[in-house]
This record gives sequence, structure tokens and C-alpha cells, in this order.
Amino acid sequence: MGLPAWLRAVERATRPYDPEFVAAMERRWAELPEVARTPGQIIGRHGVGCEGTHGVFPKCNLKCTPCYHSRDANQVRVDGPHTREQVAAQMGLLRELRGPRAHTQLIGGEVSLLPPDDHAATLAIMREQGREPMSFTHGDFDYDYLRRLALGPDGRRRFARLSFAAHFDKFMYGRRGIERPSSERALNPYRARFAAMFARLRRELGVRSFLAHNMTVTPGNLDEVAAVIRDCHAMGYGMFSFQPAAFLGDERRWKEHYREASPDAVWQQIERGAGSRLDYDVFHNGDVRCNRTAYGFYVGSHWFPFLDGSDPRDLAVRDAFFRYLGKVSFTGTPPALLVAKLLRIVARHPTTVAFAGSWLARTVRRVGLGRLLRHRFRVRPVTFVMHLFMDAEQVTPAWELTQRGETSDDPKVRETQERLAACQYSMAHPEDGTLVPACVQHAVLDPAENAALRKLLPIVEVRTTSARNS
Ligand code: SF4
Repeated sequence: MGLPAWLRAVERATRPYDPEFVAAMERRWAELPEVARTPGQIIGRHGVGCEGTHGVFPKCNLKCTPCYHSRDANQVRVDGPHTREQVAAQMGLLRELRGPRAHTQLIGGEVSLLPPDDHAATLAIMREQGREPMSFTHGDFDYDYLRRLALGPDGRRRFARLSFAAHFDKFMYGRRGIERPSSERALNPYRARFAAMFARLRRELGVRSFLAHNMTVTPGNLDEVAAVIRDCHAMGYGMFSFQPAAFLGDERRWKEHYREASPDAVWQQIERGAGSRLDYDVFHNGDVRCNRTAYGFYVGSHWFPFLDGSDPRDLAVRDAFFRYLGKVSFTGTPPALLVAKLLRIVARHPTTVAFAGSWLARTVRRVGLGRLLRHRFRVRPVTFVMHLFMDAEQVTPAWELTQRGETSDDPKVRETQERLAACQYSMAHPEDGTLVPACVQHAVLDPAENAALRKLLPIVEVRTTSARNS
């Protein structure tokens, strides 16, 4: 390639915005209900929302109360080829409708029941479609599984980075070594053990990771939430996500008056744990009645927000971020290429330097230079999230109306319709070319889907000779 051709190729590769990504965001923004078009809305300004898989491996080997899977889920065989085939079809549709870049959860029952090679092949399929995958687990597997996931049969590293979301709470029964946890605190060694496996993976194989910690909150563990954050914030998790329990899935596993753990009560506990007020209005992910998010970082044991919602100068930084950098796809862009794209934006809009400089100076003042020096400028980004799934009895009628193109006069039903329309957690149905909110998947579609899967992938009892003779 001659110099002029090479320069043209570099110019093309470092263009800040991918028109396909921009078009996907514009479609998302146009679909959002008015109530979700807030100044802090991320969907349509810096992303298209999250995605998840369904109907792939619904079986799990722990028992949770509540469990969002339908009662047939545990009668379905975990099957690698089925998972790969379904995930490929679902990712193809997401690529077509949601554009070239998104975060997508490999979620079903328990992901580590998939053989490591099938798990790895599925992650590769997701990446091929521009998805940044995150595997959902209860965390009860060993380092050997992780190692076999990270290394191919030839002993070579097959991923530079892995993302996992691990679910830990005391209403999950059957974890090895702690069948029925007496408290959230009793689970802390298991939370630490899980995170330590990934630190070892990095040390031994150079594979980086992102870990999220998930926890269902009910009235029975509400007052333990703050201590979980205080005890576990430095274990290596980059996100703490809390889900107030909903009446979804297998009704045999509904045990408490879940709604007594109200959104505000749960958020207060998260704030107590973080030791800071958490402003969930700086950024929105979909409808704020579904998701509250606070982005920030720890220095030592203190958490600070990236942006202070009470400071108009920080809100101006947020708006400038959306304006100049929002259309850049950070997800899946190699760091060197991302830097080149950002430099081109800075060259075109020098005002971004002023925004960044004043923000940095304010943030250093807020944290305190002394504290930063004491901790050798070690900053750990940690995001707090609360995701409020809706109850099945709330979702079903609202979704029926939405399907008919009608809007309810009942404020409660209309609220549900608005939340579904702004959903930031979608699942794909390649058989009819639609995307549905995860609430709809669990409340409306899972029972029939899992009943069909139970026939397609039955669990065959293999009887041993000794069992036959006994
Ligand atoms: S899955 Fe349900 S609770 Fe979550 S964002 Fe979508 S509509 Fe809201």
C-alpha cells in the first residue's frame, strides 16, 4: 500500500463516529417515550441499552427464592450446540436492530453448567456480532473451570478480557460449603473467593476482567445491604447491582412480602453502604422507575461520584460529553484506536479540553490532594445500580395493550407501558423479528418457551448398574 492509500485508510479507521452506531442510537431515541427523554438519558445519546439471551440454558443447580425462571426451567438439559445456535440467531437480530455495538448478558440458568468450550464458543459468537458479553453466574465454580474457559484446547489464551456478573444473596440455597447461609455476612468469604479467582487469572494468564456483584433484596436482607457494600467494595467488583425482589417466574419460590422493600428503602441502604448520597438523576438508563444508577469511584474507603449533580458545572460537563463524545462507541474499540478518535474530536472541538481540565481540577479538590497522595492516586471505579423488575401481574395486561397499539387511561398501567417502552434490557426473538423487554420475557413468554424446551431438550436419566441393582 502506498503512502496516500495508507493515510486514507488511517483517516477512515480513526473517524470518531460509526454511522451505523449513530443511526441505531437515533432510532432508540425516537422510540423512547417522552417521559424518558431526560437530560441525563444515556439511551440514544451514548448507547442503545443492554441486551440479554433467553431460552438457551435455563437450568440452574442452586435454588433461589424468588427465582425468575418458570417452573419447567430445571427440566431442560444444558446443551452446548443448542446454546450456540440460539445465541447466534439472537445476536444476529440484535446486530440488525440495535446496531453494531452493545453490552449483552449471556444469561439463562447457570452459565457454568455449560462446558467451558461451549461457553467460550458462545462468547466468541457474541463478540463476532459486536456484542460485549457478560456471563451470569451464581459464582459456585472452581478456578479450573475459569482456566479452561480462558484457554483453548491448544493451551493458548482465547480472551484478553472476560466479564462476569455473580449473584450472591442469602436466599440462594445449595452453594457448596454454605448450603443455607445464615446471613449475608456469612457469604462474604464466597464473594471474596470468586473475585480472587479473577485476580489469579490475570496474574497467571494475563486475562483481564470486569466483575459485577448482583444481589436480590427482600425485606429479609434489606438491612444487610449496607454492610455488604462496606465489607466487599474493595474485593474487585466494579459494579454492585441490587434487584428488589419481584413476583416473577416460579410462584412456588415466592416467599415474602417482597414489595415491603421499597425502591427508596433499598436505595437508602445502598447510600449507607457507599457512605455518600447517590444522585441517580445525573444519568438515566431507560426509565428511572426501572433503573437507578450512580457512577463514581473509590479512593481508599471513600466513594465519590464522577459528576456532582448539585453542581451546574458538572452537569455542563455531562451535556458536553453527550454532545461531543456521546456518539463515539467506547465498547469494543481497542484503546489505541479510541485515543486516536478522541484526539480527532479534541482537535475539532478544543473546548472539550477546557471542560475536561476544569472537571479534573474540581474532582481533585473534592477528593482532596492529601487523600489521593495517601492512596498513591489509586482510583477504583465502582458503579451502584438498582434494577426494579416488575411483577408478572403488572406486566401482562400492560404488554397486551402495547401489542394492540393502545395506551391505558389507568395511570398505573400507563406507567408500566412507559417503562416497557423505555426498557433498557431487551431480549431478541429471531422467529418473529421482535425485541422484548426482559420483564415481558419472564412474565409472559418464559412459561411456554421453557415448556417447549423441556420437550426439545429433555433430561435423560442415566441409570447406573448399581442403581439398577439396588
Ligand atoms: S426489564 Fe423490566 S424493569 Fe428492567 S428496564 Fe426493562 S421494563 Fe424496566
